[in-house]
Amino acid sequence: MPRKRGRFIRKARRLLPPVIVIAILLVAAYMAFPHILRKDTTPAAIVSGSIEVHFINVGQGDSILIRTDSGNMLVDAGPGAAEETLSDYLERLGVTGFEYAVFTHPHEDHIGGADMILTDFTVGSVILPDCTYNSATYNRMMEAIDESGAEVIVAETGAKFTLGEIKATILAPNSPDYKNTNDNSIVLKIEYGQTSFLLTGDAETVSEAEILATYGNDMLKCDLLKVGHHGSDTSTSPEFLTAVSPKYAVISCGRGNSYGHPHAVTLQKLMNAGVTVFRTDEPGGGSIVFVSDGVIVTPKSG
Ligand SMILES: [Zn+2]
Repeated sequence: MPRKRGRFIRKARRLLPPVIVIAILLVAAYMAFPHILRKDTTPAAIVSGSIEVHFINVGQGDSILIRTDSGNMLVDAGPGAAEETLSDYLERLGVTGFEYAVFTHPHEDHIGGADMILTDFTVGSVILPDCTYNSATYNRMMEAIDESGAEVIVAETGAKFTLGEIKATILAPNSPDYKNTNDNSIVLKIEYGQTSFLLTGDAETVSEAEILATYGNDMLKCDLLKVGHHGSDTSTSPEFLTAVSPKYAVISCGRGNSYGHPHAVTLQKLMNAGVTVFRTDEPGGGSIVFVSDGVIVTPKSG
């Protein structure tokens, strides 16, 4: 036994120094290259001098995130059914709050996730159209706004606000009241450098005609159009589309939705105008991201 133990100790003495050296090397390597040795879950930061516009796949509804290096803006919060999808999407990007949350009009497919946004994220200002609505979802949103302490701004046509280098102009609603709640939609023109985006909520042809009459073709010209009312034939009048004459159009809708959105006539109009159309309901499509460097708008791949 003693001879055996003596051999073991000698062996241990021989092996110990290389084991220590290997351990030291591993610790040093981990400190020098931590991203190689563990999965890096840090979300990609926004590239300085650019903005991203995310049309988040929330099924039948709208939710648009504008990311800048000066903060974020959210336009609509999708239906309640997609609340978790929306929350996960934002968290994956490392979004914790918004300078502005715009809720275009009080329909459920636009404000269903609003209470979640106001409860789980920080919101500086909420922008709402000047109309009330009778629904549990609307009441929940108003209560969540109250509890969040966010500033409430009532949308006025022609009003402008900024987020970093972004200029946002409210182009609608232009009347105090509408028969159709969709026409109460806040329509936003987002300008970044020479590039521009037109976010139309569910505004229909009545509101489109008012926008045209109030602002004229030059103001409407944009690189990208978020097609009104999920591509319904009640929006995107030929005159409006001609004025905007976008390069890209995005249709936000749920696959196999019961409204038949987008309607064939709208797709035909966009095709005839030579617009490249992106849809959130396309297989493998999902959320759609565009990047603007202030000069050109490009779809982001991957
Ligand atoms: Zn809608």
